[in-house]
Amino acid sequence: MCLCACLCQARVDYLTGSWWPVLEDLYGTGIPVYRFIQRPGDLVWINAGTVHWVQAVGWCNNIAWNVGPLNSYQYQLALERYEWNQVKKVKSIVPMIHVSWNVARTIKITDLDTHKMIKHCLLQSMKHIQVLRDQLVASGKKISYQSRVEDEPAYYCNECDVEVFDLLFVTSESSSRKTYVVHCEDCARLHSPTLSGVVVLEQYRIEQLMSIYDSFTLALPPSSR
Ligand SMILES: [Zn+2]
Repeated sequence: MCLCACLCQARVDYLTGSWWPVLEDLYGTGIPVYRFIQRPGDLVWINAGTVHWVQAVGWCNNIAWNVGPLNSYQYQLALERYEWNQVKKVKSIVPMIHVSWNVARTIKITDLDTHKMIKHCLLQSMKHIQVLRDQLVASGKKISYQSRVEDEPAYYCNECDVEVFDLLFVTSESSSRKTYVVHCEDCARLHSPTLSGVVVLEQYRIEQLMSIYDSFTLALPPSSR
């Protein structure tokens, strides 16, 4: 039996649930388990994909960070989890499209695989935007350009929690209180198939994205400069 089967048997939803396993079950099914006590001053580093549990043996300060070293393995796992979250309709803490465009704009990547993967993600993102844009224009829907301001956060759909990048489908929940709500295209069309009452905001010009895409080239490693 594998860990997935164990999780299944325990009726745990892996993405949202929490589970304190019976160690004997894990030992009995041959799942490798490392168990140890973290002493003061110890740092425990857990690799991506490692299922883990922490229990305090006394009073303690509980400090944990999620870190994402920028390498191809990390990036691939992050994308896979992002997509899996999307399938399962669970919100991704890391808005990968937003992050990928930011990386392309601000960081020099020297690793070939990482560069290739990010570039591929940007291309898919641009393709999606262009197709969606063309459909909107063809149907006569007005798109209003509204440039991003500094430190503006990434957006998520109010209904399904999917990341919404560049083309935002905005409704005003109450006209008097001026609260605006962002939706993805699918959820916006569920409200109104013709998108009446929905304002489509565009946060980047397509030329701007193309320019970021083209300027994002593989950098030379420091040793070869
Ligand atoms: Zn949605």
